[in-house]
Amino acid sequence: MPVQLNETHDPARRSFVDSANAPGCDFPIQNLPFGVFRPASGEPPRVGVAIGDQILDVAAAASSYDGLVGEAARACAAPRLNHLMSLGPQAWSALRLALSRGLSAERADKNFRQHLMPMSRAEIRLPVVVGDFTDFFASIFHATNAGRMFRPDNPLMPNYKYVPVAYHSRTSSIIVSGTPFKRPRGQRKSPSEQAPSYGPSRNLDFELELGMYIGTPSALGEPVPVGKAAEHIFGFCLLNDWSARDVQAWEYQPLGPFLGKNFATTVSPWVVTAEALAPFRSAAFGRPGGDPAPLPHLDDAEDRAHGGLDITLEVYISSAAMRRAGTTPVRITQTSFALMYWTAAQMIAHHTSNGCNICTGDLIGSGTVSGPEKSSWGSLLELTARGREPLALPGGEQRGFIEDGDEIIFRGYCEKPGATRIGFGECRAVVLPAG
Ligand code: CA
Repeated sequence: MPVQLNETHDPARRSFVDSANAPGCDFPIQNLPFGVFRPASGEPPRVGVAIGDQILDVAAAASSYDGLVGEAARACAAPRLNHLMSLGPQAWSALRLALSRGLSAERADKNFRQHLMPMSRAEIRLPVVVGDFTDFFASIFHATNAGRMFRPDNPLMPNYKYVPVAYHSRTSSIIVSGTPFKRPRGQRKSPSEQAPSYGPSRNLDFELELGMYIGTPSALGEPVPVGKAAEHIFGFCLLNDWSARDVQAWEYQPLGPFLGKNFATTVSPWVVTAEALAPFRSAAFGRPGGDPAPLPHLDDAEDRAHGGLDITLEVYISSAAMRRAGTTPVRITQTSFALMYWTAAQMIAHHTSNGCNICTGDLIGSGTVSGPEKSSWGSLLELTARGREPLALPGGEQRGFIEDGDEIIFRGYCEKPGATRIGFGECRAVVLPAG
């Protein structure tokens, strides 16, 4: 994994956009995440960059540049990120450098200043046309916790430490943060019931995940080695793999997740680039003594040293009653992506190891991010022991699983000494009644 720090990461750089310099801001000048916005109804959506509480219209600000920067900026006149993502790491990096300089307090580019608008006034759209969506299962803590619910005697399958387990999911139901969705209906059968029935899920859950967008495609028939995977990754988002546990438990054998998972997947709107995350690379998760080494095609010394990402991830819940009472959302988990058993590069290497190609706009979910402690578990299945030990909410409510009107909010950020804190913004949605 290349870990190239450059002037765009310099903590001393400040923006002429004052809100970007506020401590704790998710979108300082060192971040520059890409998204898609519509400035006003009737106007076409286009690619923007988040800076403080503003959005820069990238094509309007930088299309007149020469060379790669101009080409990348002109790709931002589109209503999706896909064209920019297809141009490759050199173009992404050149554009990032130009945006960083133009938005800096020293340069304060006049043309940039003219093409900013408040984020609060823009309509924020789904940023990417997703071609394929693959969801991994890369936290050994989650795999063990979840496995215990379904198979108490045999929680971790014997393949887990060799195979980065995944399944192919659905792209049609990917929705952007802020979009409410209906509780799914499905077949569910509790252990006490003789036969299944069809109706609204009684065990609706969230899964706290990181999403990874593929920029550069790979060729059919050509596996991508772990050491080359970084060239294919455009950036990352927060991802909620909503899960109907009762539907999942009844349907998952023998072919795995289907309708228990594919009714909705919420993504955050701002894609934090792999380059912005460079200061927060960490060692890959250390396999405990006695665990087998990955097979050679999934192993890489550089990835072991720098293939992890130290991203703090949090989940908050806000019930309808809490919102009516003016109670702020309450945090129910906090974890780190650095605890994942498999790295992003290993996921790509495994995905392509049989010759399967990856394409511009593919979305790869990490799987639920859980750590060793209960306070770091990334689903209600784990936090409430499948509903048996409900969480207490302010105001006296209890939650085993998600109820109608609940809003689930994910937040993510990176911070460490010597680097500027960057954030992912939010990934949130309210669950509506099945109707
Ligand atoms: Ca998942």
